[in-house]
Amino acid sequence: MQYKFWFVVGSQFLYGPEVLETVAARGAEMAEKLSAVLPYPLVYKVTAKTNQEITDVVKQANYDDSCAGIITWCHTFSPSKMWINGFANLQKPYCHFATQYNQEIPNEEIDMDFMNLNQAAHGDREHGFIAARLRMPRKIIAGYWQDAAVQKRIGDWMKAAVGVAVSRNMKVMRFGDNMREVAVTEGDKVEVQTKLGWQVNTWPVGQLVDTMNAVTEAEIDALMEIYHQQYDFATDDLETVRYQAREEIAMKKMLDAEGCKAFSNTFQDLYGMRQLPGLASQHLMASGYGYGGEGDWKVSAMTAIIKAMGENGNGASAFMEDYTYNLVPGAEYSLGAHMLEVCPSVAAEKPRIEVHPLGIGDREDPARLVFEGKAGDAIVVSLIDMGGRLRLICQDIHCVKPILPMPNLPVARVMWQAEPSLTAGVECWITAGGAHHTVLSYDVTAEMMHDWARMMDIEFVHITKDTTVEGLEQELFLNDLAWKLK
Ligand code: MN
Repeated sequence: MQYKFWFVVGSQFLYGPEVLETVAARGAEMAEKLSAVLPYPLVYKVTAKTNQEITDVVKQANYDDSCAGIITWCHTFSPSKMWINGFANLQKPYCHFATQYNQEIPNEEIDMDFMNLNQAAHGDREHGFIAARLRMPRKIIAGYWQDAAVQKRIGDWMKAAVGVAVSRNMKVMRFGDNMREVAVTEGDKVEVQTKLGWQVNTWPVGQLVDTMNAVTEAEIDALMEIYHQQYDFATDDLETVRYQAREEIAMKKMLDAEGCKAFSNTFQDLYGMRQLPGLASQHLMASGYGYGGEGDWKVSAMTAIIKAMGENGNGASAFMEDYTYNLVPGAEYSLGAHMLEVCPSVAAEKPRIEVHPLGIGDREDPARLVFEGKAGDAIVVSLIDMGGRLRLICQDIHCVKPILPMPNLPVARVMWQAEPSLTAGVECWITAGGAHHTVLSYDVTAEMMHDWARMMDIEFVHITKDTTVEGLEQELFLNDLAWKLK
């Protein structure tokens, strides 16, 4: 889907046709110039002057699948009772861009005509009031429209809004159930479909095995060629790698046949399969599919959504698991990895295909990609089911080049410092109920996840350099009450 955003400019008839023509021309000019620098096109739609015009454009936006959200701005005053009927029906993400066509107040030129034409400071307040009164989820961005920092914020909001569209169309294919007895990977599938739009359903592993058996040698040859282009082969065991290719091709066929963008499996249910998919799942993730281990369909869908919110619609984001700590004072790090399945989009170097035994699952040695994660600021994100509602937890982290080579560790690994510190961060994370499974992202920000959570109408908890355990406890206590009343 080629997503677009709609630019709706507020005005009124009071000022006469000349002013309205100027407003319309400037709205179109701004949309065109912004489209050149934003990640998605901004399409000027209307200079809205009546209740009917606003209601009509909202109806059109709701039913146009390519419209991922609307951005409004009031060049002049725009009495906002005429926005109520339209806003009451709005089903798309909404950003109020409080900007102004001119950057400077012109000393000589300014008179009452100029004031009447350029009164966004006035109009955007009237516009903002009605959204506050209606308790609308919205993003408010204020600043000059040609300022690069402002444009970056609009672009980030657009990506979060695309995450909403992807979420509302998300289908998750579960191969087998969750790992036995695990709590945090459970969840209310009716609730997530109601709230987030996700269709989470199961398909038998036996059907996957049948599909694998039908994969041809020619299909495997073609995928092996791609593996050779993208990865270094650090194994001679090509048959094992070819088996992963067979698994990937079969999973992709089943996912695509059902329109699924995310999947989960579990090492406890691999009946008829010789290897746990490792390289297969990793290469599917690199192509934009979400994945969750041990049947964790929530993290799988979140991985797909966050990847789609990233750079060019498939950013540096990976299914991740907190594994072990380095607790040496002054060198306190978390080491994240998974049994096999870390997305190579976060790799610092060209990944290697390696074959090693897997201690659990009772299957043959699987091929997997091994690499180090890159250095850089990032976030980890966890969606949990609190019983009756969802909570999204996000923590700021700083990834580093792993401080040790760890030559005998046979999996991809990422090492990071957490905010506010490793141990206080762990206390905050555990206080909030965050899972061991996360999505780690380098190019989706906490602000984008906050925007996404607001648009999806779920709780957002952000662990930052300023978070304290005491403050967080109080916040969670009040959140719990508020979300029960909501
Ligand atoms: Mn796991």
